[in-house]
Amino acid sequence: MTSFNSDFTMTIGGKAVAGASTFPVLNPANEQEIAQAPDCSQEQLDLAVAAARAAFPAWSATPIEKRRAALLAIAGVLAANAEELKRLLTSEQGKIHDDAMFDVMGGAMWCQAGSTLELPVHVIEDTPERRGETRRTPLGVVGAIAPWNYPVLLAMFKVAPGLLAGNTMVLKPSPFTPLTTLKIGELLRGVLPDGVLNVISGGDSLGPWMTSHPGIDKISFTGSSATGKKVMASAASTLKRVTLELGGNDAAIVLPDVDVAAVAEKLFWAAFTNTGQICVATKRMYVHKDVYEPLKEALVAYAKTVKIGDGSEQGTRLGPIQNHQQYARVLDLIADAKAKGYDFLIGGETSTAPGYFVPITIIDNPPEGSRIVQEEQFGPVLPLLKFDDIDDVVRRANDSEYGLGASVWSADIDKALAIGERLQAGTVWINETQYITPLGVFGGHKQSGLGAEGAMEGLMEYTNAQTIYVNKGAPVPA
Ligand code: NAD
Repeated sequence: MTSFNSDFTMTIGGKAVAGASTFPVLNPANEQEIAQAPDCSQEQLDLAVAAARAAFPAWSATPIEKRRAALLAIAGVLAANAEELKRLLTSEQGKIHDDAMFDVMGGAMWCQAGSTLELPVHVIEDTPERRGETRRTPLGVVGAIAPWNYPVLLAMFKVAPGLLAGNTMVLKPSPFTPLTTLKIGELLRGVLPDGVLNVISGGDSLGPWMTSHPGIDKISFTGSSATGKKVMASAASTLKRVTLELGGNDAAIVLPDVDVAAVAEKLFWAAFTNTGQICVATKRMYVHKDVYEPLKEALVAYAKTVKIGDGSEQGTRLGPIQNHQQYARVLDLIADAKAKGYDFLIGGETSTAPGYFVPITIIDNPPEGSRIVQEEQFGPVLPLLKFDDIDDVVRRANDSEYGLGASVWSADIDKALAIGERLQAGTVWINETQYITPLGVFGGHKQSGLGAEGAMEGLMEYTNAQTIYVNKGAPVPA
């Protein structure tokens, strides 16, 4: 029986590797240390990259059907260990058990559904003289860098297409949430050929070492826009391919014809699921003036029924903020809103008790230019904004450097769709949010990202195009 709460090791070349040193991982619900995680040295990163390079020739030559089977095997391992992984994930991430189970099983589903994608061969020409086709070849070694909000699911966003395309990988979780990913690496030893998927963890230097490493051919990164810019700059020195899934400031637009009682709960969870720490959480909620007052009351009434606490406790619906850095950032946004004199409909209090807890906070119609509207809060603080005119609200929704997701809520689907089509975002939802499937393209517009994950487009980002022309005539005599 694998132990899930001790002995966290990296997986390099299919073997357990202890860190050159270790660093503590805290439970954000009580700030207590859960475990020490391995701190990968530069030499150990070299070993991981070398292991991935050594595994590449055989893995890339493995028939795709076997690579599909490997993804299904990963899905099976996640599912078989979901209960234990869920508990470990809650202890390091803070999310409630249901969300932790979604994270783990979402990862399994991503591998399962992602395994069905095909690598296309495009025939350009097939004449008596010549055949020309474009096919897809793997890139080599992919460095995958994941954030702390959905550590398993967002790692599998990368692992599934990366391995299916025939690449080998070095996966690095966030130093705030390394444990579940390290455990998954351990569980996959012997399931995948040695070196195909290496899992390492470390401090703030490890990401930059990866992005500048000459043995890594591509970086697939999910994290903040600020870090994404550093990743792209660093990757330029070796002309690595990059896929960047970055931050967002999603607007929800609520039209006057909604049934307030029916949508209030959905809108609440659009903003607050996972304590607001979702790239595609609703981060600005624009509500038509005709339904502003009743919706405001319904949101506040519902918020009062939602229990915040330790994610491992029965009945808890929202956990803490994941780490101190993010906690301080959210408190700073609250302090700014208070200093500016904005009205708080609920929340805003801070506590000195252990744990990075922030109460559900809803701010009443702050100015459009305020920090809480313009910046990505990534926490349980929602600005509720009033609008009157559709053109005006579309302009306000689009007036952002971000362009990740957006949603429109209305009883009239055609009307909502017409507004949705005007929004500058990679994903637009009508009367829902956050629905994502491995068969749909997911990516950010503007500074929310570069490239995409999911679907054929996402898979293609793990490949090079190779065009081959065959002249069918006899060779020209010398
Ligand atoms: P972050 O940018 O701080 O860190 C992400 C990862 O990058 C971590 O593994 C971190 O160790 C690593 N890293 C940090 N500095 C690095 C550097 N210079 N070079 C290489 N790697 C480096 O992000 P976070 O705080 O972990 O995650 C929250 C952010 O991620 C939010 O902005 C959120 O919107 C965004 N996010 C985006 C998506 C998406 O799909 N678009 C999904 C989830 C989260």
